[in-house]
Order: sequence, then C-alpha cells, then structure tokens
Amino acid sequence: MPVAKTEQIWHNGKFIHWDDAKIHVLAHVIHYGSAVFEGIRCYESAQGPAIFRLRDHMQRLLHSGHIYRMDSRFSLDELCNAAVELVRVNKMTACYIRPITLRGYGEVGVDPRGCPIDTYMACWEWGKYLGDEGLGKGIDVCVSSWHRPAPNTLPQMSKASANYMNSQLIRMEAKTNGFEEGIGLDHNGHVAEGSGENIFVVHKGTVITPPLSDAGLSGITRDSVLSICRDLDIPVMEQAIPREMLYIAEEVFFSGTAAEITPIRSVDRINVGDGARGPVTKRIQEEFFSITSGRKADRHNWLTAVNVPTTTAAR
Ligand code: PMP
Repeated sequence: MPVAKTEQIWHNGKFIHWDDAKIHVLAHVIHYGSAVFEGIRCYESAQGPAIFRLRDHMQRLLHSGHIYRMDSRFSLDELCNAAVELVRVNKMTACYIRPITLRGYGEVGVDPRGCPIDTYMACWEWGKYLGDEGLGKGIDVCVSSWHRPAPNTLPQMSKASANYMNSQLIRMEAKTNGFEEGIGLDHNGHVAEGSGENIFVVHKGTVITPPLSDAGLSGITRDSVLSICRDLDIPVMEQAIPREMLYIAEEVFFSGTAAEITPIRSVDRINVGDGARGPVTKRIQEEFFSITSGRKADRHNWLTAVNVPTTTAAR
C-alpha cells in the first residue's frame, strides 16, 4: 500500500512540500545504498501526540552516520526539534517518523566523500506493521535460509539502508512461503533477529534476547523491553540463542518500532508453547502500551510531547 502523503518534509533545516522531496538519479545513495535512517513512532497519548524515545533514535542516527564517516551537520537537539516541528506542521496525532541522512549527487565512484550529506525527515500515518490481529494472537514465522551479515561485513550498530537488502531477502522469502516474517541467524548459526525486529524468547521463565554481538540491531524497543522486565521483576538476560530454542521456548516475541511487541505463535510451523500469545509477552505488551498511551506514568522519560492544537490532541 502506498504511503498516505502528508504536507511537509523537513530537508536540511527547511520544510518543503512532499512532492518536492526528490533526489537526482546519480545520487550516491541510489547506486551504493549510502544512507542511514531511523523509524520513530509518535503515539496518540492521553497528553496529546508523544514521540517515543526521540532522543535515543536521533542519537542512533548520528552514530549510524559516524560509523560511515557521514557526520550530520545537525546536532542531536536540532534533529529532535525538527521531528517535533514536523509532526506539528503536518498536524499529525499518531504517526511514523522517518529521518534519513544520505550521500547525495556529486561523484559517482564508490568512495562517497565527494558527495554532499543531506538529511530529510518525513512522517505519515501508519498502523500495525505485523497486523492488528498479530498483536493479540501472535504471528507465524520461519527461520530464513538467509543469514544476517557477519560483523566484519556490514556493521549492525549502524542502521544503514544497505543492510535492508539482506532484510528484503529474508522478508520476501518468508512472505512467499506463507509466513508473516522471517528470522535471520548470525554467522555462527545463532538466532539474530527478524528482518526488521529484535527477538526474545521466554525459556524456563527467563526472558532471553541475543547479545548485540550476534548480528542484531541495537533496537530501542529491545532496550525498552529489557527495562520493562527489570521494572516488573521478570528475570531477563542477553545470551546466545540456538535455533532449536525457538521451538522449545514457552514464548517467543518480536520487538521493534514498527512491530512494537508482537507475539510469535509458531516457528517453522512448530507451535510455540500453546500456539498463542503467552502470559509474559502479554504482561510486557500491556506495560509497553500503558506507557506509550500515557495511561501509566512515563517513569523513564521515554515520551516527548508534541502538543499539536488539534481536536484529537485536545481531548
Ligand atoms: N532489527 C532491525 C533489522 C530493524 O530494522 C529494526 C527496526 N528499526 C529493529 C531490529 C528494531 O529496532 P527498534 O526497536 O529501534 O525499532
């Protein structure tokens, strides 16, 4: 489904019309995937629109670029302010925010350093990534025949556009074979993550997620889940996960900005637990949504208020 247009896109400090946000076909990014980006959610909370972990996302964007010698000319504060302003000028309540820093039109060789660095930021309305039903009932996933890139190939601490060619292979294979999503293993055969989500298992009552060395993105929702588990006194650890643990775990779930907390009810057509959302996943989900909706106190300061003067926000 095409994205529902909004009015304005932020470009290097100025707002431009959605239809004017175009780049040249010889821009470096088009040929070599030289961009880093973020996906951020703005929730419709009881206190009005609120952006989830904005500073952490923008910090990761800056780090992602720094790894590729692609330093932004905008500071962390400037990027955060731009995101708030973007949601406000587009009069959005709940939406998805996509900042991207890319290598533009300049030289066409592989070395990107002769090309300008541009930052754009767009937002649009977006529903549940893995389906509304998936959040309640869980989704069916498979282990992909495609692995995640080894650590000395494409660095996973950078959320770089080029990484998503691998994600596309994982996701297309999964969807073609009738699954909602695929899980990539790392270079050692350990569980890494989904094509766009981090992964957790509940095994013998402990919530386990792979360490960052096992080819997964340093997910901000992942970090939020770790905090929520500690808050709720749920035993939690980062530990390598062998593939077969997915089949014998009591529960498995994905975390991600788009996926939020999505239960997994089967892996490779083998039921996880009872083949439905498990109680630990439900508890974590409820806590997560209570905070993002403003029903529970924002004890970790995860939300940035936008305060758009719209009728929905004023309720
Ligand atoms: N892994 C990959 C490959 C992703 O694309 C994402 C989405 N950004 C995640 C994990 C989850 O990260 P986050 O919780 O920060 O959205």
